Amino acid sequence: MPLRPDGIVIAIDGPSGAGKSTLARLLAERLGYIQIDTGAMYRAAALLLSRAGVNLDDSAAVEQFCRNLDIRLELDSGRQVVRANGTDVTDKIRSAEMSLLTSRTATLKPVREAMRKAQQLMGSRGGVVLEGRDIGTVVFPEAEIKFYLSASVEERARRRCEEMISNGEPASLAETILAVEKRDQQDSGRDIAPLRQADDAVLIDSSRLSIDEVLRSMETLCRHKIENIDTLP
Ligand code: C5P
Repeated sequence: MPLRPDGIVIAIDGPSGAGKSTLARLLAERLGYIQIDTGAMYRAAALLLSRAGVNLDDSAAVEQFCRNLDIRLELDSGRQVVRANGTDVTDKIRSAEMSLLTSRTATLKPVREAMRKAQQLMGSRGGVVLEGRDIGTVVFPEAEIKFYLSASVEERARRRCEEMISNGEPASLAETILAVEKRDQQDSGRDIAPLRQADDAVLIDSSRLSIDEVLRSMETLCRHKIENIDTLP
């Protein structure tokens, strides 16, 4: 496959809380690539649908709404900003309620189609690290390198609780485990683009590994790939 003008496409998929966002950001920084947080795009779409009061069971209304969806990821003084139909929604999309609502709206075909097209356009020149659930299977099945990042439910819930506590939010491990399990079920059980490991993805279980250890092995594999593709005749 010819190298895209800006570099390769790196896909990182996996369940929530496996460390995808942090690793995608750090890996992109190390390689001088752009990070594309596709979960943030789904969250922004869910927020817009809910604000507009669209009935999610009315597929014609959802489809009509998705025709005019404009979701962008922008860099503003080094900070990733999520803009949905012109409005900065970066801070509004991260609540626990939004996580579950997003998981529900992400089952809808018009939403997935709109996001898939936008993501394919954003990544078409390469030089990108995309993280999500269906990047290696649906959005960029031809990605030059694919990772599937996982960790036990308990570990992922524990990390989420730590994050909530450090943000000053109340957190219960038992409730977070239930929320993580529910989202896993919704994301893996849906008909369209369910969460699953692509056959050619490198599986990394981060349960007992530090971010630094995982980052180093991902970076090594990516650099090897980039160098070998660059030297192809
Ligand atoms: O990654 P994050 O937790 O922000 O994603 C929020 C939700 O968006 C996921 O639970 C999933 O339902 C949906 N999503 C998706 N496909 C992607 C990225 C996220 O369905 N590529």
